[in-house]
Amino acid sequence: MPILSNARAVLKSVFGYEDFRPGQAEVISAILSGGPVLAVMPTGSGKSMCYQLPALLDGGLTLVVSPLIALMRDQVQQMRAVGVAAGSLNSNNSAEETEDTWRQIRAGDLRLLFVSPERLALDGLTSALSRREVRRVAVDEAHCVSEWGHDFRPEYREIKRAIEALGRPQAIAFTATADQATRADIVERLFTSPPQIFLHSFDRPNIDLRFEAKDQPRRQLTEFLSRRRGQSGIIYCASRKKTEGLAEYLAGQGHETVAYHAGLDLTARNRNQDRFLREDGVVAVATVAFGMGVNKPDVRFVAHADMPSSVEAYYQEIGRAGRDGLNAETLTLYGVEDIALRRRQIDEKNIDDAQRLVERRRLGALTGLCEAARCRRQILLAYFDEPSDPCGRCDVCRGQVALYDGTIDAQKALSAVARTGQRFGAGYLASLLVGEATEPMQRNRHQELKTFGVGKGRSKHEWTAIYRQLFACDALEAASEEHGGFQLTGKGEAILLGREAISLRSPEKATRKRERISGSRTRISNDADDDLIAKLKTLRRELARDEGVPAFMVFPDKTLLDMAERRPTTLDEMSEVHGVGQRKLTLYGKAFLDVVRNS
Ligand code: ADP
Ligand code: ZN
Repeated sequence: MPILSNARAVLKSVFGYEDFRPGQAEVISAILSGGPVLAVMPTGSGKSMCYQLPALLDGGLTLVVSPLIALMRDQVQQMRAVGVAAGSLNSNNSAEETEDTWRQIRAGDLRLLFVSPERLALDGLTSALSRREVRRVAVDEAHCVSEWGHDFRPEYREIKRAIEALGRPQAIAFTATADQATRADIVERLFTSPPQIFLHSFDRPNIDLRFEAKDQPRRQLTEFLSRRRGQSGIIYCASRKKTEGLAEYLAGQGHETVAYHAGLDLTARNRNQDRFLREDGVVAVATVAFGMGVNKPDVRFVAHADMPSSVEAYYQEIGRAGRDGLNAETLTLYGVEDIALRRRQIDEKNIDDAQRLVERRRLGALTGLCEAARCRRQILLAYFDEPSDPCGRCDVCRGQVALYDGTIDAQKALSAVARTGQRFGAGYLASLLVGEATEPMQRNRHQELKTFGVGKGRSKHEWTAIYRQLFACDALEAASEEHGGFQLTGKGEAILLGREAISLRSPEKATRKRERISGSRTRISNDADDDLIAKLKTLRRELARDEGVPAFMVFPDKTLLDMAERRPTTLDEMSEVHGVGQRKLTLYGKAFLDVVRNS
């Protein structure tokens, strides 16, 4: 296709990329042929390129509706860094910036104009713009228009009207998360005519998946982080208070951390987000308020200090890692309290029974993923209706999670629940199983039960872990009145009566294996020279500081790795390096070349 070969040439000359990522070519050629388009592509797949390239190729103005004002400045800078005329209209701009942007619009020079949905809804804007040529409107994070999505933003409902007011230019929309219902909603509420829909694979093969039950969460996180010193990452916490405490604690361990949550004042929030974006190797300890659209390609890890709120949220949150396509790692901690809290919240919600059932199923999918006894990626993709083979690189596939036939252990544990009247919690039941005649146990005369001491072969700690797994896989549920107490479900009864078998993870083996494997983590680069990479990073840091831009805007990690591997000796060879487009070649080519030559 000639259109596409042209696009490919610009991809190389402006952005320095060799070829399209999967899915981009189809979406871009559909956009270039002029009709409405809805593209559902996973985070990091390069959605932005799908509107950036067409804007460069056909000359008109593309209006980009993007939900977060805080990010617009970076998006604009990123475009300018590769020589694309871009601007934004938002309340953070100075009067000069706004004036300058309007001047470029009037002169027909501007290719990309970023606006917030609120701003777009103001009448003045659409009438001022409709007299200019807006060739297309690109809507980012399009799922925000739908109440079915998890980030509903009422302002998004005004976009369609604005598109009409602009004389119905081509509408294109992008999102990383949209199930069937959400997609239908987007089509109806955003588009004036039915779009061509593209669904691209949800797999993010460069992201490692790993879950651990909370044991000593701080120690687990410290261990995870100790092997990732100097890398950028995000740690999600369930509460505001926890983010600050954990950020401080990790800072005490020598990590560069910033806290982020919606309770901080705007200045502090912006400052912290800025540090995370601009500096190398900062860890953001944050609530889920952090990250929608955080455009940092070199986030190397995402950890959850608490269980995420749903599979969708989990996938979106870990999806912020590894957008540059290089290896990225994740660790998700979950505890029985997390699951119990979530169940209670669903029970107490003011919703009808059908909706409650849906919510319970969604939570069940999440806990099933946490306690998975087979490939996590397979389970995850299946949740998004995508069939796949075992991935070979999640913790289960790697054998870091050792499993055994736990039917007999489960029967002992469940029998203890049944014989004590279905109202005690994990601690009490574990004592019972190991034969610890505590004072309350004697009061209840439970040391006389047949189950008393039947689990002596395991520690209390291990029995507690088994209860957590039984709870997570729905063999147990919370007893209605007793706080923290369990009762059997249908599935629990089936296991107890020997009608169903169950796989459990064996705690001791998992620990040993984890330690052994962790000693030999894969590094980002195998052959490239560490010393040269360090020098290239130093130069990058200096250039970034001089220009007041984030380091990755000078060059992403991938570019430096490729540079260290290719060791270009001329500017021509330098232009072959991944991510080196014409503008950056002119700006930085020589400086980096000197470093390569001198080492
Ligand atoms: P998304 O919005 O889908 O999460 P982005 O548009 O932010 O992802 O792209 C993620 C990163 O991938 C960016 O740094 C972008 O420059 C880069 N990228 C986009 N397209 C390509 C490509 N064809 N080849 C290499 N890198 C690309
Ligand atoms: Zn796997």
